[in-house]
Amino acid sequence: MTVSETLFERAVKRIPGGVNSPVRAYGAIGEAPRFIDHADGCYIYDADGNAYIDYIDSWGPMILGHNFPAVREAVIKACEKGLSFGCATEIEVEMAEFICENIPHVEMIRMVNSGTEAVMSAVRSARGFTGRDKIIKFAGCYHGHSDALLVSAGSGVMTSGIPDSAGVPKGCTMDTMTAVYNDLDSVKTLLEQAPDQVAAVIVEPVGANMGVVLPEEGFLVGLRKLCDQYGALLIFDEVITGFRLAFGGAAEYFHVKPDMVTYGKIIGAGMPVGAYGGRKEIMEMVSPVGPVYQAGTLSGNPVAMAAGLTQLRYLRSHSEVYRDLEKKGGKLYGGMEEILRKNGLSYQMNHISSLGSLFFIGEKVKDYASAKSSDTKAFARYFLAMLKAGIHLAPSQFEAMFLSTAHDDEAIDRTLMAVEGYFSGLL
Ligand SMILES: *Cc1c(COP(=O)(O)O)cnc(C)c1O
Repeated sequence: MTVSETLFERAVKRIPGGVNSPVRAYGAIGEAPRFIDHADGCYIYDADGNAYIDYIDSWGPMILGHNFPAVREAVIKACEKGLSFGCATEIEVEMAEFICENIPHVEMIRMVNSGTEAVMSAVRSARGFTGRDKIIKFAGCYHGHSDALLVSAGSGVMTSGIPDSAGVPKGCTMDTMTAVYNDLDSVKTLLEQAPDQVAAVIVEPVGANMGVVLPEEGFLVGLRKLCDQYGALLIFDEVITGFRLAFGGAAEYFHVKPDMVTYGKIIGAGMPVGAYGGRKEIMEMVSPVGPVYQAGTLSGNPVAMAAGLTQLRYLRSHSEVYRDLEKKGGKLYGGMEEILRKNGLSYQMNHISSLGSLFFIGEKVKDYASAKSSDTKAFARYFLAMLKAGIHLAPSQFEAMFLSTAHDDEAIDRTLMAVEGYFSGLL
């Protein structure tokens, strides 16, 4: 038995499914997950000493590669002063100023500890600000595991959400309406069904939790217009896209201005951080200024802020990072497309900049229904072959590949060789 297998055997006895987040399980794959010992740059090493080229990147935070020296040093330095005070610190002010000065649609921001908390709090603020209860989300978009957002409502448009999870009372999701990604008419229909009741439309400006699904031309602009027309706030959940597509996230990339934005992942550089921000008059609804309650013992934690702010400052002062990620994305994902084409396969490779995913289906993937029709058994075979070739992908069809600046030509070439080997039947 491998060390990972032994650890997994112990883990399942004491942790549900052996993992502290279900995305880490190899459920669909039928193996023990690889337990990780350490990581550096674009490489991750499991407890058995196997090295892999890592395309999970901690689900996004490691945009500069694992164990980035400046971030690591900032964390060690912050630790020397104490881990947490539960009181205001200078670095929180610096973080807030830095983001607000560099992102035009964020005038005020509040730090929390996860993306889940960020979205939950943003939605509460939007409801407090508008005095309305309903929200519209999109099937296939993930916004964390708070009750009201655990609705993906598979087929078509529905007025009141059916919870996706046991333990979520129907009452918690009855104000969550679900629209179809890339389908503005489905949003309009919902807005008209509940006139003056929709507080916010929340969207992943690039879908990255049903595999990567790009917004079609006019979709995000169309949402902006519909929100203005119906008096709803537009919330961009930029937990993945923020500081990744551009420093200003998808809002900057697509030139669409949301009223509120949520961050996570990259903003903490690997520490547990989330944040929500937006227009001043909305954010001033939040306690202690306003009536919307939201708090956190460890929010704005100085060690986490040191990690996050160091990474954000680096990204801001190295704008070449984003050109570099575009180039790497073009090389890897474009290369994969070329391999598929050469082998006469019509599988869909959706990608944008550093994010990509391969769907095992011939038709265009533009929403949840089309994403779900991918052949997940074919994905599982591909995943295992890649793992054997030393390529660490997310163990699910419905997760993105994340490129970092640490993925160099050699790593990308090796990845393409493995993909080529697999699809030309050599592996
Ligand atoms: C990961 C993610 C979340 C949840 O963040 P956690 O830190 O896991 O709670 C929310 N929204 C999006 C778009 C995400 O990708």
